[in-house]
Amino acid sequence: MQPFDFIQPDTIDGTITALSNHTPNVRILNGGTDYLVELKHVHQSPGVIVDISRLTGIKGISLIDEGLRIGSGVTHTEIMSNPMVKEHVPAMIDAAHVVGAVQTRNLGTIGGNLVTCVPSMDSGPTLMALDAQVTILGPNGKRQSSLQDFFVGPRKTSLNIDELLLDIIIPKENLGKPAKFIKFGLRKGQALALVNAASALWLRDGKCTDVRIALGAVAPVVIRAKKAESVLEGNKLTDNLIDEAAKVAIREAKPIDDFRASKEYRNDLIEIAVRRTLKSAMLNSK
Ligand SMILES: Cc1cc2nc3c(=O)[nH]c(=O)nc-3n(C[C@H](O)[C@H](O)[C@H](O)COP(=O)(O)OP(=O)(O)OC[C@H]3O[C@@H](n4cnc5c(N)ncnc54)[C@H](O)[C@@H]3O)c2cc1C
Repeated sequence: MQPFDFIQPDTIDGTITALSNHTPNVRILNGGTDYLVELKHVHQSPGVIVDISRLTGIKGISLIDEGLRIGSGVTHTEIMSNPMVKEHVPAMIDAAHVVGAVQTRNLGTIGGNLVTCVPSMDSGPTLMALDAQVTILGPNGKRQSSLQDFFVGPRKTSLNIDELLLDIIIPKENLGKPAKFIKFGLRKGQALALVNAASALWLRDGKCTDVRIALGAVAPVVIRAKKAESVLEGNKLTDNLIDEAAKVAIREAKPIDDFRASKEYRNDLIEIAVRRTLKSAMLNSK
């Protein structure tokens, strides 16, 4: 491991100052489950590491005027056991539950998961299906972004080097929205997703509205399958329509062929994942 300086600020303002003072040779450390692995293999020192794992301002889950706020320092284990998450966005528990092993979930944070921006991240699809917004803080103040704008490419987000991901907000109109997350890997535990997916929809007068289908591990970033969504939008949810939407979703994805799975296999998984998540969301609506 290359040598580096280490700063552990007590406050969010102190964190932004530390990031600004050391840009561009600075990196944030949160739970460290992803970054420490990377750090062991880099040939150049990161310069300064700013440890935010003890910052109270990025902890906690609370209901605010805009919706459900989840601090970027909240761990996957905390999400799994939080009563507000269970009541308002239970699909997030399904997603948190399948991240790595218990040790990874105890240390790894939702903020770190989103910022790694790997296509197979398990937090992304559910949050995207629920129209979550991220709050970003930098030297020029706060800004909000949708996840679609936040995810730029593999391991690349719209965050600047001197910015901190502060929190994730699930808008209040989506609290309680029927949603389901599913992950397919080579094993049930400790495996990256070959395909993961989340669907969310409201059923009003028997018809679907605000349909969201988000897919992971099938494109450079987590994506929405908008054409599949529009197959369902405004229509009565039937098994036939769900089958059609699941087939359309395949055409919106660009899965890779690699040592873990072929493109054809991943396409089959997309169809199954979309069908199952939609059916489950439908059942949850009744
Ligand atoms: C064995 C193992 C298994 C894993 N399995 C899975 C899995 O099944 N599913 C999955 O999705 N992931 C998995 N991961 C990846 C990782 O554990 C998660 O992505 C985790 O949530 C990362 O969070 P962290 O707090 O540890 O991030 P860190 O490692 O601390 O940071 C990751 C990156 O995000 C940046 N960062 C972190 N927090 C912030 C912030 N608030 N603001 C700005 N930048 C920030 C850091 O600078 C770094 O670039 C696994 C990792 C390991 C080692």
